[in-house]
Amino acid sequence: KLTSREFHPENTIVDVDGVKIGDGSMTMMAGPCSIESLDQIRECARIAKAGGATILRGGAFKPRTSPYAFQGLEEEGLKYIRQAADEFDMKVITEVMDEAHIDMIAQYSDILQIGARNMQNFKLLQAVGKTGKPIGLKRGISGTIDEWLNAAEYIAAQGNFNVIFIERGIRTYETATRNTLDLSAVPLIKKLSHFPIIVDPSHGVGIWDLVPSMARAGVAAGADGLIVEIHPDPINAWSDGPQSLNEKTYMRMMKEVHIMEKAM
Ligand code: PEP
Ligand code: MN
Repeated sequence: KLTSREFHPENTIVDVDGVKIGDGSMTMMAGPCSIESLDQIRECARIAKAGGATILRGGAFKPRTSPYAFQGLEEEGLKYIRQAADEFDMKVITEVMDEAHIDMIAQYSDILQIGARNMQNFKLLQAVGKTGKPIGLKRGISGTIDEWLNAAEYIAAQGNFNVIFIERGIRTYETATRNTLDLSAVPLIKKLSHFPIIVDPSHGVGIWDLVPSMARAGVAAGADGLIVEIHPDPINAWSDGPQSLNEKTYMRMMKEVHIMEKAM
């Protein structure tokens, strides 16, 4: 398989317009769950950059559990996140939910994110694969490692070798945390595949004060980077406020992560 270590023994480094993922350094991605306004995403970009992140996250098309919940600002949001990222010299990662939106989203975003709910949307995987763009592939809510590797294979089979695995927790019997962050996926994916893997502790636990610990655990497990949700005012966030870090907690977490990175 194209995704396997046997096929490609060396680590693949995904080059996001100059920001390299999987080159041995930690690539930090941060931003809100949802883009809410130009002011909000600019403030998130300022905070993200101050802590050392090089990639700005933010959803414009949101896969909400309820059809009545905020669904995202769509193209307007993409314009805002691009503007904010450019202002702070950052790259953009945002989710693609529908094949019909790929070309439009690709005009604004450097990385296309496939959400957990679409890990096995095979036509979507093939279509994003065809763009040749870096793809952030989240692990499915109940995705096994083998299913996840096969999802990456759908992308690679299109000739796209720019896959970034994102461990974001899986559904287990435990309900005290939003998901169960499976950190064994980090060394396991690294053993089985040559593509980089980053950790999303925010969706992994769903509770903001547990995020810094699990971020450090992700670094210790050997992740190539982290993706975390931040918000200038988490209590009033339009989505995923309970798992979003405020500026102070984010800055403290990033300081700890940088100390760990230097020691490794
Ligand atoms: C997100 O990144 O905001 C998101 C919806 O993540 P996931 O697909 O992992 O649930
Ligand atoms: Mn979210």
